[in-house]
Amino acid sequence: MQYIYHQRHRPQEDSILYWRKFVVQYFAQRARKRWCLAMYDNVGNQAALGAFPRSSTEAWQCGICGSKSGKGFEATFEVLPRLNQIKFDRGVIDELLFVDLPNEYRLPSGVMVLEYAKAVQETVYDQLRVVREGQLRIIFSQELKILLWEFCARRHEEFFPRRLVAPQVNQLLQVAQKVQNTVTESSAGVSAQEMQANCNMFVTAGRQLARSLELQSLNDLGFSKRYVRCLQAPEVVSSMKDLIEFSQEHKTGPIESLKNYAQQAAAKLQSQKMQEMEQLVNAQCLPGDQSTLNKFLECCRTE
Ligand SMILES: [Zn+2]
Repeated sequence: MQYIYHQRHRPQEDSILYWRKFVVQYFAQRARKRWCLAMYDNVGNQAALGAFPRSSTEAWQCGICGSKSGKGFEATFEVLPRLNQIKFDRGVIDELLFVDLPNEYRLPSGVMVLEYAKAVQETVYDQLRVVREGQLRIIFSQELKILLWEFCARRHEEFFPRRLVAPQVNQLLQVAQKVQNTVTESSAGVSAQEMQANCNMFVTAGRQLARSLELQSLNDLGFSKRYVRCLQAPEVVSSMKDLIEFSQEHKTGPIESLKNYAQQAAAKLQSQKMQEMEQLVNAQCLPGDQSTLNKFLECCRTE
């Protein structure tokens, strides 16, 4: 695919201009790129899933597994250039895609759909490879530009080169051997000092091994933290839409708006809470028990 070719033959300086051109060339104006993680089976830490914005729960449904769980994320056309730039700026050397023969069909509207029952995406870092397996669906516009790119991931695996960890593993083994020798050779027992020295060696060797494994700051889902932050930023902006509209409506500056908006929002929330309470109490109180209801509402008001 030409797409992959251009992604690989990017200029050295990783400029945003190149990625803007790239995105315009391959993606339609309303394009979206999605990573669905609903079918994931090896999420070590569920918290990593929670790192994705909740507002996306209502926003989209995976076209492959049909899930609307909000596990995953979506990037719009506007964000794609920055996302690519960050990806390759953050140590990604290459991104490879291995796919089966696609199931190809055209919808009545003229858009073309390619479905890959098995797709493997490999992200290559200097000393690490993240291999993601899943299903891929790409929808092309009539102009053959990507309208929707959906990758429904099932699992991912991180691979470290053997040469990276082998020296540290050997070192650990040597330390263990040394400790064993000290214990077996000394008939009078091991002195506290010797024990301390052995412990220190163990800790140092262990730390070195841990450091080698933490070269890339990836989250439990194999994405770099900055990449995920970039994906979250548009969500934050869209969640501030109300505030921006408020500011425009009242013709006030950002800080002033934030103050007033917070007050107004709090008042709105309070009145909503009151209504809910009243409904709840009305539904639960015995008819005629008006004094209890009044007392209860009084409590809520002074809260
Ligand atoms: Zn899915």
